[in-house]
Amino acid sequence: MKIFNDNSCGWIDYKNQRSNIKKLSNDLSCDYLIVGAGFTGLSAARKLGQIAKNKKIILIDAQLAGEGASSRNSGYLVDTTLNDGFTSNKELKNYKKKTDIYKLGIEVVKKFIKEYQVDCEWNESGKYFASSKSEDRKILENFSETLTKLGFKHNLLSNNELNRRLGTNFYNTALYTKGGILLHPGKLVRAMIDTLPENVELFENSLLLDWKTKNDLISCTFENGNISTKKVIFATNGFLKSLGIKSNYNFPLTLTASMTRPLTDEEFKSIGKPKEWGVLPVKPMGATIRMTKDRKILIRNTAEVHNPSKMSQSELNKRSIKQKFGIKKRFPQLPNDIIQSTWSGIVSRTRNSSQIFEKIDDNIFVAGCYNGSGIGVGTLFGEQIAIKASKENTHEIETIEARNKPTWLPPQPFLNLGIKTRLIYERIKARSEI
Ligand SMILES: Cc1cc2nc3c(=O)[nH]c(=O)nc-3n(C[C@H](O)[C@H](O)[C@H](O)COP(=O)(O)OP(=O)(O)OC[C@H]3O[C@@H](n4cnc5c(N)ncnc54)[C@H](O)[C@@H]3O)c2cc1C
Repeated sequence: MKIFNDNSCGWIDYKNQRSNIKKLSNDLSCDYLIVGAGFTGLSAARKLGQIAKNKKIILIDAQLAGEGASSRNSGYLVDTTLNDGFTSNKELKNYKKKTDIYKLGIEVVKKFIKEYQVDCEWNESGKYFASSKSEDRKILENFSETLTKLGFKHNLLSNNELNRRLGTNFYNTALYTKGGILLHPGKLVRAMIDTLPENVELFENSLLLDWKTKNDLISCTFENGNISTKKVIFATNGFLKSLGIKSNYNFPLTLTASMTRPLTDEEFKSIGKPKEWGVLPVKPMGATIRMTKDRKILIRNTAEVHNPSKMSQSELNKRSIKQKFGIKKRFPQLPNDIIQSTWSGIVSRTRNSSQIFEKIDDNIFVAGCYNGSGIGVGTLFGEQIAIKASKENTHEIETIEARNKPTWLPPQPFLNLGIKTRLIYERIKARSEI
């Protein structure tokens, strides 16, 4: 299986490509091999470069580093995510564990951008969980109780105020959380690549085909060479399953998103010149929609079971039409043809939305499956799995390991059938919000 990404992601600066790309072309050996160079793998490599100075460290990716989901997301660095209920103490305790991890994720990204003076359009603007349906107020009120108990600053808003803040009359109810950051994911991940420690060797466009343990070593077969390593960290997220890793605990989903050109002065005025904002849907299959700092509108409103290694241009065009409608519904006064880029990206899911962070065998480690919170949690998990692989412990590892573990998934074909049925059901429930 090859991985083909479309070259149309609005966050990737295709005009300013890196020039120092190295492809694996012979057999090598190393102390640490990290497979996958997104937020998780880059962060693991950075940490290992700092703590294992005399070891040979290789980071390798099937495509260009950072150009998977890590560049293709919506750029929300989240402190909270919305789930139904959380009324009992047990649920509250579990939700707190989740937000403790988000908090650590924000801290680790913040530390990185401060240390390396990264410009990634960081904006502590907070975020909105919004719905056009007034009846969803009940869900938001329950969520508000949870947030109050855990001390998260937030408030509930109605149509007029939302119209003023977002420039659209579409939403009738929302919960605004003060925490949560909006950023430019392409710039953040690029900075992680540009600041990799010198003792990390990066190979790109080098697909891992197979791996097996051999005596005390792990032997990895790539398209154009083999790497024999003492320890390996798998950070391939949506492609863990295709490598046979934790196969009964994770599955990939394909998302698509579109971004418009910057709105003209007149168009921007017509929607009330709002400040940068980000809306997440109350219903899971609703649209994520963002107004960027440079007046572009980003929308993501599809999630589906699809071949994770490629989406064709014609299939992408169909998703783009859905996104055009999503924008039109919210901003009828804007022209029809303002979408400038449409792209797909792969996320990894588990049944109970819990992440994977594990030593799966002697010297074999894996971190992944963050659903929609991989910017912070992926960066955190990458760093901490590197520390775990070095046989150290931290309070962050203890916090991560206190979370609920992912639960078992049924085998194929039942799995895909179950996921597809669930997605159809969620899509119907969210049809007004797409
Ligand atoms: C449209 C979209 C919107 C999202 N919105 C948000 C958001 O707003 N906030 C948020 O926090 N998260 C969001 N996410 C999720 C987030 O992008 C991911 O959780 C995060 O990027 C995971 O990082 P990662 O490094 O673990 O995985 P990835 O970035 O997916 O990196 C994995 C890498 O592994 C490589 N790889 C895979 N298989 C192989 C192989 N066989 N050999 C070699 N290399 C391989 C891939 O090429 C890839 O580069 C979104 C995702 C998408 C697609």
